[in-house]
Amino acid sequence: MSLLEKFERYPLTFGPTPIEHLPRLTEALGGKVQIYAKRDDCNSGLAMGGNKLRKLEYIVPDAIKSGADTLVSIGGVQSNHTRMVAATAAKIGMKCVVVQEKWVPHFDAVYDRVGNILMTRLMGADSRLVDDGFDIGIRQSWENAIQSVKDAGGVPYPIPAGASVHKYGALGYIGFAEEVAAQEKDLGFTFDYIVVCVVTGSTQAGMIVGFAAQDRAQSVIGIDASGTLEQTRAQVRQIVDNSAELVGLGRKVRDDEIVINPDYAYPAYGVPSDETNEAIRLAARTEAMITDPVYEGKSMQGMIDLTRKGFFPEGSRVLYAHLGGAPALNGYSYYYKEG
Ligand SMILES: *Cc1c(COP(=O)(O)O)cnc(C)c1O
Repeated sequence: MSLLEKFERYPLTFGPTPIEHLPRLTEALGGKVQIYAKRDDCNSGLAMGGNKLRKLEYIVPDAIKSGADTLVSIGGVQSNHTRMVAATAAKIGMKCVVVQEKWVPHFDAVYDRVGNILMTRLMGADSRLVDDGFDIGIRQSWENAIQSVKDAGGVPYPIPAGASVHKYGALGYIGFAEEVAAQEKDLGFTFDYIVVCVVTGSTQAGMIVGFAAQDRAQSVIGIDASGTLEQTRAQVRQIVDNSAELVGLGRKVRDDEIVINPDYAYPAYGVPSDETNEAIRLAARTEAMITDPVYEGKSMQGMIDLTRKGFFPEGSRVLYAHLGGAPALNGYSYYYKEG
């Protein structure tokens, strides 16, 4: 039985996302571990989709019920999340205010003109650039934006960074775990590991709660891309506890069921290392699978390195959760001018 039966969902995605085998990447990594991807990057027709839509599907019913007329959220300049909030607002006929902070020490000349922020503006969101640095917590600039909507006579509906510390923020990825279990029945095998990028936490936290119900939460390997491990880990812990309670998991998730690897976040959030860029190139050249320098390139780097190091026992099946993010590549064109 689904843990989500009592929760309302507003469809923003196409439905279950495909799982595909990646034979050329598997081969390039030695062929001893079978690599698959679950394509949440292809989950919707709304402004190129991504993981935030899976979360927003469980938040929209509450936003509509609240009587709000404006979604208010926050992220970095090249935030996928604010793009997805802008898309959701357009789709459900609400206004949208997004605060975009300078989370990333990156100075490409068109960084604040292309990719995510371009689409955010195109969809009619009021995108406000501010100077504050990276922080996954609750921000003054966001509080100010909420107040500004009220001052103008509007009714704001606040959605925190990454939709993570929202009461319903992790439900979508509890659904992901149930979806994987159903797909495994059709495939005739189960995955030994799920690799997922983690920053604001509700994607991995939802997976942990969902897979805990199947007694395999430890198989979810979070690859940190925040570079602020303690804060991310604490936030995942908190979201896991709140969400387990909310859905009635019936037990406390143990600390050893929350696995986060900090080794690939260097040099900083939003800045790719040489190894990140090599991982991005390898996935692109073997599978035409496009990953970005902020998030998925780092989890790809982690999966590649862990496979090469023999972390996954021979014969394992590894499922890479592709969460989206490719639009940000446009803001990093200088890195890839020669491929
Ligand atoms: C937001 C995002 C993540 C991180 O997910 P969290 O739930 O914030 O931990 C990873 N990849 C992409 C492409 C994202 O947009």
